This record gives sequence, C-alpha cells and structure tokens, in this order.
Amino acid sequence: MIAENISSIRRRIAAACARCGRDPGSVTVVAVSKGRDINEIRQALACGLENIGENRVQEALLKHKALEPVFPLAVWHLVGHLQTNKAGDAVRLFDLIHSVDSLKLAKEIDQQAGRIAKTQEILIQVNTAGEKSKYGIEPRTLAALAEEIMPLPNVRVRGLMCLAPASADPGSGRPFFKSLRSLLATSGVQGDVLSMGMSDDFEAAIEEGATMIRLGRAVFGE
Ligand SMILES: *Cc1c(COP(=O)(O)O)cnc(C)c1O
Repeated sequence: MIAENISSIRRRIAAACARCGRDPGSVTVVAVSKGRDINEIRQALACGLENIGENRVQEALLKHKALEPVFPLAVWHLVGHLQTNKAGDAVRLFDLIHSVDSLKLAKEIDQQAGRIAKTQEILIQVNTAGEKSKYGIEPRTLAALAEEIMPLPNVRVRGLMCLAPASADPGSGRPFFKSLRSLLATSGVQGDVLSMGMSDDFEAAIEEGATMIRLGRAVFGE
C-alpha cells in the first residue's frame, strides 16, 4: 500500500515538473508521519523516502530512537510548532526545523545548537494566508525578522515554509504558494528552500516553485 502510494506520488511529481519545466530531482518529499507507527515509517524509508517529518518533539524522540539504528541516513524534519522549552530536544534530533516563527525561538535554538557545536538548519514559517488560527509570522514582518535571525552563529536559515488553508479545492493554495515564493525572492533570506504543499495540493505547490513538499496521507493513506 505504502509502496504503491509512493510510486503514484513519484509519477505525479514527474508530471507536475514536466508541466512547468522543472527537474523532479529538485523536489524533496518529506513523509509526514505524525500518528503513524514505526512499521509504517520503516516501509516508507525502505521504499527510498529519506525525509521524515514529525510535528511533535516527544513523539519524534521515540520514533527516532527506534529507527535511527536501522536507517542512520534518514533526515528528520520538524514540521509542527515548536515551544521554546522543547528547543534543546529539537536541536538534538532534527536536521531541519520548518517552523521558526519568532526571534525568541530562533535565539533559543541558536543557544541550544551552540551547546552541542551544531549549526541548526531552519526555515521561517510565514502565515501567508493571514489565518488567525495558524502559526507563522506575518509576511510584512519577514524581512526584519530574517535580518535579526541570519546573524545568529549557530543557525542557518535555508528558506521559508507555509501552510495553505484547508480546502477541498486543490488549486486554492496557489496564491499563498506564489506569495511565499515572492517573499523568498524579496525578503533578503539567503536560502532556496520553499517548504509548501501537502497531500491535497502538492502539484500546485510544485508548479509554484516548492522544493519540499510535506506529504502525510498521500504516503501513508487516510
Ligand atoms: C500533517 C501535516 C502535513 C501533512 O498533511 P497531509 O495533508 O496528510 O499531507 C504537512 N505539514 C504539516 C505542518 C502537517 O502538520
């Protein structure tokens, strides 16, 4: 089941890339495995997906402990909101933190990374849709925040992340993807990662320039 899902995802990525003249190798699939068990994640890794996304630090710690010995090359992504008091655990565990949305959090990550002599790669999460219920910074504050975060010595900003509003229409996220891409170009952020697009809208996200798509249901089923 998971193997078939992944083949179908690969075909759909190739088709979306063909439509907009992109190399499918420029799109990284992050398999978002919140709520899935070790065995399901193992199957996804065995099918060649290398990037695992979790949205809670505690849950990820257990899974990482079980899977790391078997799949030492897996790349771990934190895609959910991070509380400052979990930053230490997050820095020890995750290769890329997608959800940095304040200077306070960035500074705490920087400090924790410094303690273990790590450069922590991060994305800044932008609330491109302006939804009150969502995390992420307001687009108009991005340039100023980036300017303060980029000099932190133990943090490297690789790009931006957004969540499109939930919708039944797979094209409805497109304006938000477009705006994330233009923010990356204009905000002074020195990075090229655009983490945008989920199971329902990843093709539109690819057409708008996504370099990382975060897929839960498309990989693991409903
Ligand atoms: C759950 C989740 C996803 C994946 O959602 P699907 O719609 O199942 O693909 C992506 N990003 C974040 C931040 C998530 O929490």
